[in-house]
Amino acid sequence: MKDLRTTVLIGIFLLGLIPLQGQEKQTPSSKEDIQNGFSGGVPMGRWKEGLLFEGIRPMPWLKSSANWYPGTEEVQPNEIRVTFMGTSPSIRPGQMNTSIYVELGNGDNFVFDIGEGSVANYVAANVALNQIKHVFITHLHVDHFGALPYLWMFGTWAGGWHEPLTVHGPSGRTPEYGTKTMVEGMKMMLGWHRDAFSVFPVGKGHDIKVNEFDFRDNGGVVYEENGVKVIHWQRSHAKDGASGYKLTWNGMSVVWTGDGRPSELDLIYAKGADLYITELQQEVIEISSGVQGVPPFLGRYTTDTHHTPGYASGYLANQIQPRLFMTTHMSFDPYLNEETVAEVRYHWKGPYHFGAPDGIVVNMTKDAIWVREGILPDFPNNRSPQFNFDCGQLHVPLPTTSREEIQEPFVREQEIDPDLYYPEGYKPELLQEWPVESDLIVPLEDLPETMKKNMGAAWRLKNKNQKILEEQKKEEEEKEK
Ligand SMILES: [Zn+2]
Ligand SMILES: [Zn+2]
Repeated sequence: MKDLRTTVLIGIFLLGLIPLQGQEKQTPSSKEDIQNGFSGGVPMGRWKEGLLFEGIRPMPWLKSSANWYPGTEEVQPNEIRVTFMGTSPSIRPGQMNTSIYVELGNGDNFVFDIGEGSVANYVAANVALNQIKHVFITHLHVDHFGALPYLWMFGTWAGGWHEPLTVHGPSGRTPEYGTKTMVEGMKMMLGWHRDAFSVFPVGKGHDIKVNEFDFRDNGGVVYEENGVKVIHWQRSHAKDGASGYKLTWNGMSVVWTGDGRPSELDLIYAKGADLYITELQQEVIEISSGVQGVPPFLGRYTTDTHHTPGYASGYLANQIQPRLFMTTHMSFDPYLNEETVAEVRYHWKGPYHFGAPDGIVVNMTKDAIWVREGILPDFPNNRSPQFNFDCGQLHVPLPTTSREEIQEPFVREQEIDPDLYYPEGYKPELLQEWPVESDLIVPLEDLPETMKKNMGAAWRLKNKNQKILEEQKKEEEEKEK
């Protein structure tokens, strides 16, 4: 048996060498031999293997089945891609605070929670900050929205001037605890920053919008546009105003529950999700307290009032029966990863993967799901701002203020004369006044080729994919006739 397998493997190896060696064409093997030679592997069928791999396999368009390299793959028209940009309530270099990025084949994208530090991973994942227009916040613990001020201010600076950011989030039991009040408070906190950044093109970027929904309206629709629907439901997270979300598009759904205790409501609203993501706390309170320095009573009390134990997460998954179950907002540590799996699998026998550490990427179509480690560089450069060039022009709005308006002349007069520090021949032409007096409107043909290419990349992909989706729809409609 072993010999046979070795022979087959050598055979496959040799077959692979033929084209490399450029040998002359020979008579092909019989169909039967080819089938025999390949029957151990995809795509010619494989035996049943693994407990975790039902419906889980890499798609042919992935550049590497093991790793995702930002900027190397386009989201396919019928695909959903989910990237874990922050995966823990305790922030540390390998795990920023929670954030889940969902990209759809129709070119839309959505951010679910935007915890502190997660922006670094968006940048590393080649997302331009002005591409982010919809942020859904599950609840107002700061590990779920701490990066919002940065995203808003620097996303506007980096070309986010055409469309305001919309923050979707629950109401509180009283108005002071709702998402709207949080955003008002953030505006106040950023008063200086907003005025200071108004020396740059701001346009509509500073007009942040809030879509606050009634936290009690279980199953209510938060968002519905372009074939995408997002609903919400209440979660038990010690205080009123915590929600879970389910996004549905193109016959597939993604659930992110946010934080909370396992609940009957989860079973109702997350039922049948393709990708079900919840949070998880392992039952190793005393051990973890020794490792992480948190007093055991504090850990126990926090979990038992706020969070989903590992066993409970598996219990929920088994009721919900997703195509893939993932957990995030959890410690990812060698000393407890096996424990995590053991607890989850006590109830859940289907496909399971950690939504941690940061950079885990999920590709999902109707037939297959695949999970990879994303290779996020430590020193990425920002992606160019992404613009919709449908009108054939680049629009740059006029800044609404200037240094003269927001700074006393005295401190500017104390600036050292640039001639004193620039070496001769190296002094640039300084740009200390905004160079034009009205909005700058640039036809695409006048834009340097590299800017046109880089700034319009997301727009071109969206248009390409939408055309394909429309054609598919037409074909399906004709088939029905
Ligand atoms: Zn949290
Ligand atoms: Zn929380």
